[in-house]
Amino acid sequence: MEPTQESVPDDGAGAAPSATAPPAPARTRQTLPPKGACWYCDKPLDNVRRFCDKECADAFDEEKEYTR
Ligand SMILES: [Zn+2]
Repeated sequence: MEPTQESVPDDGAGAAPSATAPPAPARTRQTLPPKGACWYCDKPLDNVRRFCDKECADAFDEEKEYTR
């Protein structure tokens, strides 16, 4: 017997965001390239980080949300 994976109801994994699943916050900042400084407050950082801490990351995302 073969597993019938395709007939199993999909509970959201891999599906497009819908009204029943609010989009995760924290997307905007993940598309940004690290630039060597905090994207929010411009504090110098190493080359792999985008924000100096979570508060800056959250604040940045919030601004993006409200300036659309
Ligand atoms: Zn910062």
